[in-house]
Amino acid sequence: MQPFSHRIAEWQRASGRHTLPWQNTHDPYRIWLSEIMLQQTQVATVIPYYTRFLASFPTVADLAAADEEQVMALWAGLGYYTRARNLHACARQVVSDWGGRFPPAAADIKTLPGIGRSTAAAIAAFAYGERSPILDGNVKRVFARHFGIEGDPTKRAVEQRMWAIAQAEVPADGPDAAEQMRRYTQGLMDLGATLCTRGDPACGACPVRATCMALREARQHELPTPRERKAVPQRQTGMLVIEKNSEILLQRRPSPGIWGGLWSLPEFADGDAALACRQLGIEAAEAVRLPEFLHTFTHFKLQIAPWHVRAGALALRDAQAPQVWLPTGEVAQAALPAPVKKLLQGLFVRGTLL
Ligand code: SF4
Repeated sequence: MQPFSHRIAEWQRASGRHTLPWQNTHDPYRIWLSEIMLQQTQVATVIPYYTRFLASFPTVADLAAADEEQVMALWAGLGYYTRARNLHACARQVVSDWGGRFPPAAADIKTLPGIGRSTAAAIAAFAYGERSPILDGNVKRVFARHFGIEGDPTKRAVEQRMWAIAQAEVPADGPDAAEQMRRYTQGLMDLGATLCTRGDPACGACPVRATCMALREARQHELPTPRERKAVPQRQTGMLVIEKNSEILLQRRPSPGIWGGLWSLPEFADGDAALACRQLGIEAAEAVRLPEFLHTFTHFKLQIAPWHVRAGALALRDAQAPQVWLPTGEVAQAALPAPVKKLLQGLFVRGTLL
């Protein structure tokens, strides 16, 4: 029987993914960008963002020289905005501390903002062929099943066990080790994304089925051990769609924070939209309550109660946040948080709410 890594690398060569826009390059900048965008985000969602980002910032120096608003605008809608701020900080550090070239080893890449151990290893493996193991969420699922590892993989002891296996399973050193490492790393990612999926693993096509503990014991649906679910807290906010002369008022969100750095609608805490408008220096000629909706973040849910306000007399006060008026015809192109954009497109583009 060939080693685990060899079977996965050979399967990748024959049946893995080869045409994703960030493949077939050894450029660490492009690889890093894709790895950060792909964290908790589907490939199909990432592709247009990745393409636009590279068109605007072809090199790490271009990204470092951009202002934060430009970066946030290109990221808007992709979610988990801390990634965008870290991305920018990382580019600046690569330029200031490493002369504009990515560090040549995973151990140094890991010291940059927003890059954890597994991401650093993936960049080093794809860019330099370094024999550093990855262990992202998909790989944890493959390992838990194949090696029959019990316990919640987000728990430290279980994760450490998996790191030890990951380290032990990297391809052996040798003349073609760099190429094998690239294939194996991509193969693990492809296996987790396409065959050893969460709900319904396609074990019949799996290159490591002969040694898979979960398959042997028919425990694919028990492994990995599910995480204990904590109740997700829920918060509430009111949002004001204030319209005047076919423009709507936007405020810049404080950074850091939820949607930090993005333009969004003014928010208010209690249920009185007219009072919230007056506090902004706006008399509401008409205020219509729109259907509420729920937006889910990683750690909480946000119940959003939107109001559509037609502004009458207006003497806009200086708010703590910068404010702009956006023509309603530009809603579709604007860099807005995803649920805000959906709400505004419903109102001004599709004419149907949510
Ligand atoms: S045999 Fe099935 S459960 Fe085991 S690693 Fe392959 S796809 Fe996953």
